[in-house]
Amino acid sequence: SDLKHIRNFSIIAHIDHGKSTLADRMIQMCGGLDSREMREQVLDSMDIERERGITIKAQTVRLLYTAKDGQQYQLNLMDTPGHVDFAYEVSRSLAACEGSILVVDASQGVEAQTLANVYQAIDNNHEIIPVLNKIDLPAAEPDRVKEQIEDVIGLDASDAVMISAKTGLGIPDVLEAIVQRLPPPKGDLDSPVKALLVDSWYDPYLGVVILVRVVDGQLKVGMKMRMMASGAAREIDRVGVFTPKPLLTGVLNPGEMGFITAGMKDITETKVGDTITDDKRPATQMLAGFKPSVPVVFCGLFPTDAAQFEHLRDSLGKLALNDASFHFEAETSAALGFGFRCGFLGLLHLEIIQERLEREFDLDLITTAPSVVYKIHMNDGSVLDLHNPADMPDPVRIAKIEEPWIKATIMLPDEYLGSVLQLCTDRRGEQIELTYAGSRAMMIYRLPLNEVVFDFYDRLKSISRGYASFDYQWDEYREGDLVKLSIMVNAEPVDALSTIVHRAAAEKRGRALCERLKELIPRQMFKIAVQAAIGSRVIARETISAMRKDVLAKCYGGDISRKRKLLDKQKEGKKRMRQFGQVEIPQSAFIAALKMN
Ligand code: GDP
Ligand code: MG
Repeated sequence: SDLKHIRNFSIIAHIDHGKSTLADRMIQMCGGLDSREMREQVLDSMDIERERGITIKAQTVRLLYTAKDGQQYQLNLMDTPGHVDFAYEVSRSLAACEGSILVVDASQGVEAQTLANVYQAIDNNHEIIPVLNKIDLPAAEPDRVKEQIEDVIGLDASDAVMISAKTGLGIPDVLEAIVQRLPPPKGDLDSPVKALLVDSWYDPYLGVVILVRVVDGQLKVGMKMRMMASGAAREIDRVGVFTPKPLLTGVLNPGEMGFITAGMKDITETKVGDTITDDKRPATQMLAGFKPSVPVVFCGLFPTDAAQFEHLRDSLGKLALNDASFHFEAETSAALGFGFRCGFLGLLHLEIIQERLEREFDLDLITTAPSVVYKIHMNDGSVLDLHNPADMPDPVRIAKIEEPWIKATIMLPDEYLGSVLQLCTDRRGEQIELTYAGSRAMMIYRLPLNEVVFDFYDRLKSISRGYASFDYQWDEYREGDLVKLSIMVNAEPVDALSTIVHRAAAEKRGRALCERLKELIPRQMFKIAVQAAIGSRVIARETISAMRKDVLAKCYGGDISRKRKLLDKQKEGKKRMRQFGQVEIPQSAFIAALKMN
């Protein structure tokens, strides 16, 4: 269809404000799926997404909508994730659209990610349609929330659309507003082909699938395309759109979004943000692309079974293709053997990747303590980026250590203000600003990132009963009084559990870690000492007393099936442990040990 009848838009919102549900309603209303195929949050197609009820991958759908003016419009919708760790997915969706629907829960109001997302949309020159959702709820206060949108965001909310994505109320008004208020895309059919590589993933049947937004020219089956940054050239064998079911169309015109395949198996050729052009008549200039994502949290991933190393490498490659914000490189550890150092946007991101590796790729993994990137200034003037606490040089050779700081925005009902201020102070935070919008407080704080990555978000949620929201952006590197806290189990150092901590917090943290490990490491046939140390100085110690680990002792008589079950269970437990000297440490200990207050 011609450009005039195309609208490309993202749905942006704070988590749980109803983006995915609104997308469902629009798909239903435009007939993309029949009622048998329709299920809740239909775009959240990955198992983990459905179980956790969150959107991880941005998704795109083409809808056909006949507007009140009698014309048929092609609406390309991108559903985006809301959690702070997935901001990178959001930024990519926004770059591929001209407008945004800003969904705000009318019973909750503006939250930290509402702000973060709306500012990104403004940065992308988007036209923004405010939508107040959940007006079916008795607690909905649309007038108050409209005022808040104007006061806090500075967006005109007088013609905000009132809807209930749950009941379907107001959905036709949203579709009309998209057609009337959002601009059509610009583009030229006769110019050399330029298409933005928005996303790519590996499909076991199709090979590499590439999601594109065509800017100029036409992509069609049989064309030899070239990816300008990677240089790879391939013949396109499929062109289609998601309705959300994949539908082959054969061509994609300027302004349109869809997918292409080219019989590719090599995941390294498709670089997200690259420009796709026609090999015969290439464009001279690339599109702006995306800002590269910078991972802020690192950890080691090691296969429990060393034979799975290659399988792990392969799986990480497939995941990295699907998730451009995830980085990895090979690493070896004395205790854990061959594995990978991986970079993430946050701790939730880390957990999701770890879970996907275990579920989708059937891997058993050891995850080492997450760490941020420190800058180590050596006495000889050189500066080292430290991604792994185990690689910390001898302190006598170090002149100073710098750590990353962030600027956090926290929004919360004022009744929780006292405890959240306390949390920020405990985490070495510095207050920059404290303002009110009605009964909600907005705090802006500077915090060291290493105090945030472990469990700050979980703590914040629990002390505010889930009502506080949080978002952060990079600030700067600053010098800190930091030391390496090592953990020894039975006198053997466990590198995977070493962390870098502030000197003032080292003792408390060391004690807590030892106590936690005492709970997490199962008793064995002999006594085990768990110690925390700074350099050679032991600052905390716990002892795990010995036990006879005969699970069968619990079985009286000869109930064979029960015995079998217990033995299987024990075997299962074994698989997920790692031998340290003589001691087995369960996989769960490595991350759980770091998640404490
Ligand atoms: P997302 O995180 O923004 O994608 O939010 P979801 O679409 O997953 O919705 C979060 C929760 O809010 C789900 O339990 C939905 O059923 C619920 N929800 C969404 N829209 C409405 C609505 O209009 N009214 C009510 N009462 N609940 C809604
Ligand atoms: Mg969602």
